[in-house]
Amino acid sequence: MEDLVKSFTQIPAFLEYLGKEFNATIDQNPTFPFLCSKHYADLIRNAEQPEALLREILPSIEELKDAPGFVDDPVGDLNAGKSENIIQKYDGRALIIATAACGVRCRFCFRRNYPFQSSPDVAREVSNWLDVHTDVWEIILSGGDPLSMGVGPFRDLVEAIAAHPAVTTLRIHSRLPIMRSDQVMQHFELLQELPARFNCVLVSHVDHPDELDGNSAIVFGSLKQAGWTLLNQSVLLKGVNDNAETLTKLSRKLFEQGVLPYYLHQLDHAKGVAHFEVEDHRAQELIEEIRTKLPGYEVPKLVREIAGEKSKTPV
Ligand SMILES: *Cc1c(COP(=O)(O)O)cnc(C)c1O
Ligand code: SF4
Repeated sequence: MEDLVKSFTQIPAFLEYLGKEFNATIDQNPTFPFLCSKHYADLIRNAEQPEALLREILPSIEELKDAPGFVDDPVGDLNAGKSENIIQKYDGRALIIATAACGVRCRFCFRRNYPFQSSPDVAREVSNWLDVHTDVWEIILSGGDPLSMGVGPFRDLVEAIAAHPAVTTLRIHSRLPIMRSDQVMQHFELLQELPARFNCVLVSHVDHPDELDGNSAIVFGSLKQAGWTLLNQSVLLKGVNDNAETLTKLSRKLFEQGVLPYYLHQLDHAKGVAHFEVEDHRAQELIEEIRTKLPGYEVPKLVREIAGEKSKTPV
């Protein structure tokens, strides 16, 4: 019988599926709820370092601790809101909160406390906004995860953008290539057409080499063949990828799947994520170390986002 369960929302069922005991201090009733795709659970089952992946998605009681400077809106999104679901911080470029939905709830998510607006018609909102912002040439679809939208609404959104010829670059930020490749591929017909209309960039979010497998290779390979530029951003996370060996392996594996490491982000200080923090001097050490092990094009840029700045800031 085909297995129709695509995601786990209940922690006990998820742990039972993993079939192992883990040494974790679980919060069984987290305010930022638990969500993990079945595919990611399989990645954990097959991982060389299952604890690392588990730490990314399993609610921990450490999230309940208050830490100074860790706040609800760490990157100033709300001040940069130009319209309900449009954020513009940088000249000529704007980011769309395409949907609140996502294929997972990463415990370190910087929008974990974001007051998502339920938008009945994000395509119309974006279209109206672009009508009067003709200097915008790059649109970034973010969320949530834009590829978790239904096929129809996603196409409407993209068509609305394509009706504005000033927009020459379309960029999608997504964790679904590793989380729910089925949800990416349901959009494949459209994704394949898009490079004829825009410069197309996919920025995937992969944090650990064990997150990459044959499924992600198929997604990335198909998009690359269709003409997409493939980049990856990772978040530097204590207990997940804060060692040179893991970061080196991640870069190598990404490149083998056709993806260039783009950014390694210092953690955004959202409330409840302080236990993932890696100090700046340690982060710099790590980058220096992987620089000696990798070709230059596989070394990501270490950056952080500072609210109010006109670009990401090198660390
Ligand atoms: C991070 C971000 C971007 C993209 O910045 P790049 O440095 O080009 O990757 C654009 N808009 C907003 C609001 C962002 O937060
Ligand atoms: S994939 Fe991105 S938006 Fe979704 S929970 Fe993870 S960090 Fe947040």
